Amino acid sequence: MYESYLDETHTAIRESVRTFVKREVEPYLDEWEDAELFPREIYTKAAEAGFLALGYPEQYGGVECDYFHRLVQAEEFCKAGSLGLVAGLFSLNIALPPILAVGSEEQKQRFIPPVLAGEKIAALGITEPNTGSDVANIQTTAVRVGNHYVVNGAKTFITSGCRADYVTTAVRTGGPGHEGVSLLVIESSTPGFTVANKIRKMGWNASDTAELSFVDCRVPVENLLGGEGQGFQAIMHNFMDERLSMAVMGYACAELAYELTLDYARQREAFGRPLTGFQVSRHKLVDMATQVQVAKSFCYAVAARIQAGDMPITEVSMAKNFACDVADKVCYEAVQLHGGYGYAREYTVERLYRDTRILSLGGGTTEIMKEIIAKYLGI
Ligand SMILES: Cc1cc2nc3c(=O)[nH]c(=O)nc-3n(C[C@H](O)[C@H](O)[C@H](O)COP(=O)(O)OP(=O)(O)OC[C@H]3O[C@@H](n4cnc5c(N)ncnc54)[C@H](O)[C@@H]3O)c2cc1C
Repeated sequence: MYESYLDETHTAIRESVRTFVKREVEPYLDEWEDAELFPREIYTKAAEAGFLALGYPEQYGGVECDYFHRLVQAEEFCKAGSLGLVAGLFSLNIALPPILAVGSEEQKQRFIPPVLAGEKIAALGITEPNTGSDVANIQTTAVRVGNHYVVNGAKTFITSGCRADYVTTAVRTGGPGHEGVSLLVIESSTPGFTVANKIRKMGWNASDTAELSFVDCRVPVENLLGGEGQGFQAIMHNFMDERLSMAVMGYACAELAYELTLDYARQREAFGRPLTGFQVSRHKLVDMATQVQVAKSFCYAVAARIQAGDMPITEVSMAKNFACDVADKVCYEAVQLHGGYGYAREYTVERLYRDTRILSLGGGTTEIMKEIIAKYLGI
């Protein structure tokens, strides 16, 4: 079904992620989940294996590829069974694209190669304590004084924010509304930048999620991306990729939950027969498989359009909503079919159930996606 999109180069990436996960992730994952952090050295190991660089231009240390190479890599990392690991390790993929899209050559050379090499960590700071969905209403200010912007405000829910070296940050340099929004790369070593809190969460436990504070934080004007007032458009453009990535996380986790549940249901017996011996269980499994296939097929079709150079904003929003909803439903049934074991930490479906809940909230909620779809459909 999906083979027409893929060739042996995609299979090779899948295999190399599998090998990496087996060697570097699986033996330690439960420990990282309990500690609510994976070790920093995983960035360098992932970089050495070429995973961080995939999809970035060669002149900044990247490895150029097509959209499906990245998609397959993401799918396979999700199969490790921890979206916290995926979100943390790949926060660069929401932080660097705006630099690549609107940054100067000097900024690209300065910020991108160290992150792709696993030496520096990059995060994206848009959300604030008082505004998430309404991005145009962010309140963090950046006032130009000589050769610096003086930044004051706060960000919250920032993935990798506790240990990021650079935060691609949405700030207000102008008046109200989206026209006043700009993007600044703020280095965490800047005086006035502090990690105010590490947020404890329902899922994504292996990733750190931060509340950040900026108090008279003096950021050189050379760190402004694009011109003043160009931030909002760059943020919206960035969302497209992030949203499809979240859809990929959704169906990949749902697929894993289905596979684990099928295995379990074949082995677990009740009333003298395996769970698959009950029609109701078989039908649940069939519904799970069907939903995964439909979500995955649609995401592949949308990815193919992006690969062809289109900007399918409506379809990306639909893909996010559909695949994330599938993840919720499939993971719910996975826990249900595991019975009490589905509620136990040692079973992966328990983590998948928690980890997938964020997908319909982050990167634009289900309701915001529906508003976008309604607008583009003229409803
Ligand atoms: C684990 C985690 C990681 C995250 N990582 C990052 C990150 O790295 N960087 C970053 O910047 N942010 C990050 N976020 C923030 C995330 O993107 C926001 O939580 C999300 O955009 C929603 O914003 P909010 O929480 O302020 O909710 P709100 O905007 O307050 O929304 C609350 C509810 O109201 C609904 N609502 C709001 N507006 C409308 C409307 N117009 N119509 C209908 N319903 C509406 C929403 O759909 C939602 O159900 C992360 C969040 C989490 C939990």
